[in-house]
Amino acid sequence: MKRTIIEVILALALVGAGAFGWTNFKGNQKATGQLTELKAASEEAAKAATEKEAAVKAAEEEMAALREEMAPLEGQVQQLAALKAAMANGTTLADLEVAYKSQKNLSAERQVGLGALRMLTKGAEDPAAIESFRKALQLSELGDRKNTICAAQLALAAAGEKVAVMADCLPKGAQGEKSGHGDKAAEKDGHSKDDGHDHAKDDGHGKAKDDGHGKPDDKKAPEKHAVHWSYEGDMGPERWGKEFPTCAKGKSQSPLDIRGPFVKSRVVVTADYKEGPLKMINNGHTIQVNVVPGSKTRIDGVAHELLQFHFHRPSEEKIDGKPMAMVVHFVHKSAEGKLAVVGVLLKEGNENPGIKTLWANMPMEEGPEVTPEGVNFNPANLLPREFDFYSYEGSLTTPPCTEGVRFFILKTTVNVAKEQVAAFPFKRNARPVQELNGREITTN
Ligand SMILES: [Zn+2]
Repeated sequence: MKRTIIEVILALALVGAGAFGWTNFKGNQKATGQLTELKAASEEAAKAATEKEAAVKAAEEEMAALREEMAPLEGQVQQLAALKAAMANGTTLADLEVAYKSQKNLSAERQVGLGALRMLTKGAEDPAAIESFRKALQLSELGDRKNTICAAQLALAAAGEKVAVMADCLPKGAQGEKSGHGDKAAEKDGHSKDDGHDHAKDDGHGKAKDDGHGKPDDKKAPEKHAVHWSYEGDMGPERWGKEFPTCAKGKSQSPLDIRGPFVKSRVVVTADYKEGPLKMINNGHTIQVNVVPGSKTRIDGVAHELLQFHFHRPSEEKIDGKPMAMVVHFVHKSAEGKLAVVGVLLKEGNENPGIKTLWANMPMEEGPEVTPEGVNFNPANLLPREFDFYSYEGSLTTPPCTEGVRFFILKTTVNVAKEQVAAFPFKRNARPVQELNGREITTN
C-alpha cells in the first residue's frame, strides 16, 4: 500500500518535472532537485517497508512455533480443567482426607498430593493447601526428594506465598532469565524450613516412592528434571553440588573427621525415647526407621522430637581418621525447627539385639514405608548407656546438604555383629568427611 502511494507520487513528480523542463531552465533545475529528494525519500520508505515486512514475517513464524509448543500444554490445561471440574464438589478431597485421617505421619509426596487436590478443589489460595505444601517442603528437605521440593515450592509460589524456589525447579525458559540468581535461590532453600512454621509433630519423613496419591500436575513437577544421586559414579558425592549447591559451597558440612583439639562443652544432652510401632523404609540410599511422635532428646532442656533414624555403612564420621563399621543417625527437630542429629557409632563385635529386630523386618529393595504388623520398637535399644559426646555444627549428610544441623556423636560405641553389617543392603552409603573450615568441635 505504502509503496503504491510512493510510486504514484514519484510518477506525478516526474510529470511535473517534465512540464517544468519544457518551460524554463530554472524550473527544470528545481524540479530535478525535487525529483532527487523524492527518489531518496521513496527508497528509504521502501526499505523501511521491506524491513517491516520481514519483521512481521519473523513474528508470524515465531507465533507459529509458539503455537506448536503450546499445543501439548493446551492438552494439559484441558486435563487440568477436567480434573478441577471433577473435584469441584469436594467429594474427592473429602474421601482422601478420610483415607489419610488414620495416618498421623503423611509422607512429603502425600502432602503435595493433598495440597494439590485442595488447590484444585478450593482454589489457589486455600490456606490448608498452603499448609500441606509447607509440610511437604519441610519433610522433603530432610531427604533428597527434589521433585517433591520443586512441586511444593512452585505450588507455594503459585499461591503467592513467599518462598525461595530452587533454580533447578524453574521451567527451562525462566531458568535462563534468572541465571545468576539461581544458586542463591537454591541455597536459600536450605533455610526455608526456618520460616517459623512448626509442624514437628506431624513430620512423617516418609520417603515413600511414588505412592500414587495425587501427583502434582506435571508442569509444576517436571519429571525430566528428576534428580538421582548416589554414593559412587556420575552422581557420587563429588557431583552433588551440581544439583544441590549447598553440598559444594556450604562451609559447615557434615560429616567430619573428629580429632582434637576440643573445646569444653557444658551442654547437657539426654534422650527419652519411647516404644512405638515399627515403620521402616528403604529409600534407595539407606534403611530408615520413621518414629511416631513422643520420643525426644533434650539439649540443655530444649526438647527435640525424634523424627527418624537411619544407618550408614561404614560410619560417616571418623574418629582420628578411622571410621567404624556403621553409624546410626537419630534425626531430631525442635519446635523452632532446629535440627539435631545424635550419632551412635557401631563397632564390630557381638550381635546387636535391636538391629536383629530391625533387620528381620527391613525392606531389602527400595520402596514405600512398611509397617510390619504387631512389631514395636524402642529406639533407646540402640543407645549406649553413657552420653558423652563430640559436638559440632554441621549439615544433612545427604542432598540437599542443608546446614544448621547440630551434631552430637556419642563417644561410647555400640556393638554390631559382622554378619549384621554384611546383611545391611547398602554396601557403602557414607559421604566422605568434609572440611572443618574453622569450626569448633566441642566435647563434654
Ligand atoms: Zn545420616
